[in-house]
Amino acid sequence: LKDEVDKMERLSLVGQMAASITHEIRNPMAVIRGFVQLLNERSPPAQQSYFRIVLEELDRANAIINDFLSLAQNRIVEKEMSSLHDVLNDMMPLIWADANMRGQTVDLALSEDTGLLELNVKEIKQLVLNLARNGMEAMHDKGVLHISTQDLHDRVLLRVSDEGVGIPPEKLERLFEPFFTTKAQGTGLGLALCLSIVERHHGKIQVESKVGEGTTFLVSFCKTGFDCW
Ligand code: ADP
Ligand code: MG
Repeated sequence: LKDEVDKMERLSLVGQMAASITHEIRNPMAVIRGFVQLLNERSPPAQQSYFRIVLEELDRANAIINDFLSLAQNRIVEKEMSSLHDVLNDMMPLIWADANMRGQTVDLALSEDTGLLELNVKEIKQLVLNLARNGMEAMHDKGVLHISTQDLHDRVLLRVSDEGVGIPPEKLERLFEPFFTTKAQGTGLGLALCLSIVERHHGKIQVESKVGEGTTFLVSFCKTGFDCW
């Protein structure tokens, strides 16, 4: 037990350090971004492409800091009995807006009431948003993102499925590694975060993918809140 407590204390210390370092880095970066933008507006067109790269890289660094903070924090999360359907319905406007901007659509198919699960609502939203964004980023415009739930008597299944480029087999096993990314602007932290969230909920996450056809992420939660495997 003492070891467990030590470990929890260390983890929460790491989380607190990450939070304060992140804060100390974010503020100067916001100032830098503001002035670079100003310089950009006042510079001759020939130089503007350089400033655009600086801004893009700043945004990428910012995204890494934000994702890293989510990964390092929240080690000890509080859960409450919540409805997965309510959580999904709650966040759909955000996902619809995102899809809309890309010319894509979202098909939401919730099964009949899946009851209450022990969830940390903030984390589940982060999980779904990360999976949904990855799906959208893998698709051309006009693609459809499918989000659905299914009630299996001791489990609830959440499916996020896209019609995107798919993932070649040799990459499948590296997906959940922190910093694994194939995107120029990616952080490679999204799925690492998803995995840690699912693990904190004693759930499972699986991927099925076919190159050129699409990818499905399957998340299952035990209704008891403990392992039911
Ligand atoms: P990021 O999105 O920042 O690259 P993630 O951890 O979210 O980081 O994803 C890691 C990598 O997994 C992506 O760069 C991409 O290669 C692959 N990936 C994740 N989701 C999908 C998907 N739905 N379709 C195709 N590839 C995916
Ligand atoms: Mg991602």
